[in-house]
Amino acid sequence: MHALGVRSNDKTFMHFFTLSAMREKILKVIRGYDLEEVVIGTLGSHSALNILRGAKDEGFKTLCICRKGEEIVYECFGIADEIVSVSDFLEILNPRIQEKLIEKNVILIPHGSFNAYLKDLDRLIIPFFGNRELMIWETDREKQRMWLEMSGLKMPKKFEKPEEIDRISIVKYHGAMGGRGYFLTSDKNDFYKKFKYLVERGVIRDIRDVEIQEYIVGANVYFSFFYSPIFDRVELITIDRRYEVIDGLGRVPAEIQLSSDIEVTYTVIANFPVVLRESLLSKAFKAARSVVDTSRRIAHPGLIGPFCLETVFDDKAEMYVFEISARIVAGTNVGIPNSPYSYLMWGENMYMGRRIAKEIKIAIEKGRIEDVIY
Ligand code: AMP
Ligand code: AMP
Repeated sequence: MHALGVRSNDKTFMHFFTLSAMREKILKVIRGYDLEEVVIGTLGSHSALNILRGAKDEGFKTLCICRKGEEIVYECFGIADEIVSVSDFLEILNPRIQEKLIEKNVILIPHGSFNAYLKDLDRLIIPFFGNRELMIWETDREKQRMWLEMSGLKMPKKFEKPEEIDRISIVKYHGAMGGRGYFLTSDKNDFYKKFKYLVERGVIRDIRDVEIQEYIVGANVYFSFFYSPIFDRVELITIDRRYEVIDGLGRVPAEIQLSSDIEVTYTVIANFPVVLRESLLSKAFKAARSVVDTSRRIAHPGLIGPFCLETVFDDKAEMYVFEISARIVAGTNVGIPNSPYSYLMWGENMYMGRRIAKEIKIAIEKGRIEDVIY
């Protein structure tokens, strides 16, 4: 057994060789960089404003890869020194574009759009901040569950098949789809009715793509942490909660809800900042440290930089973790220019985008850039 896989089978070893070959390529690229001229780049969406502003605050030049027609946002805020226009984000996998970015000493900062639109991160040889192996783990709900359970965290119960459903449950899909098409159900007949409806509308294709999870009634809290390999410590940067389409349901009187066929979805639209009861913070810090420890065992060298624990606190203030993201989440946008938590540790003007750039800057100064680039 080695650090990259839980089971030592042939597939794992193949994967190990692919990853080591990838690591060699990325190291070759970064060793050819002029580290005094590093440009921080990202895809123009999700948390790019946060990342690019953070890079500028730390003195880096910035580059934003935008889909044609979407450049306006990055031009208007004036935080991208260079904009590269593409018709589709997938174009960034094109070797000619990669070469151009490598010539400019670009370090990419991954975010939710990397998972949502690129999928094949293995074809990207531009160095990026963070552990891409864990970003691949994050897109697989089975692997996420394994990671969180190995860390000793309490998760909502998972039902293997619709026939097992015995309480209110939420039905979700793989990948960062932002909650689109999720639904609540409480028994198998209702499940199949809703499932059929979504299949007919092309939202889902296969029952194997869904995860059925116990629905925890409680307060949603999303913790955005930063693990610093340079300081070997976990920092709490922001806490947020989401504003989802379902939150509008409370504005519709109950009798109208019952008499009409309102479709509720968990599609995320925005985020709110949150400050937690102080007595509950210890649970979150313990959980964060534990997932960092586990990450080292499942995907060497473990977490680097931002990660998010998505939780629900129930009526007994018990914390359930239902998801983990191994990169910056868009909820950190509420923490620009600082959140109460980043202020406690860093004072004014520290937010996730800037914290990432600061780690890169310190890593370059200390000759440790290879420890934060994977
Ligand atoms: P976008 O660039 O807005 O299409 O987002 C890329 C991916 O990240 C999509 O899968 C979105 O659903 C997800 N995403 C974007 N913004 C947020 C947010 N504020 N909270 C949670 N997920 C988000
Ligand atoms: P996810 O795609 O896992 O981030 O879930 C999207 C949204 O669904 C979350 O922001 C929550 O509002 C809700 N959610 C997901 N899983 C659960 C759960 N087990 N219990 C309660 N709410 C959940």
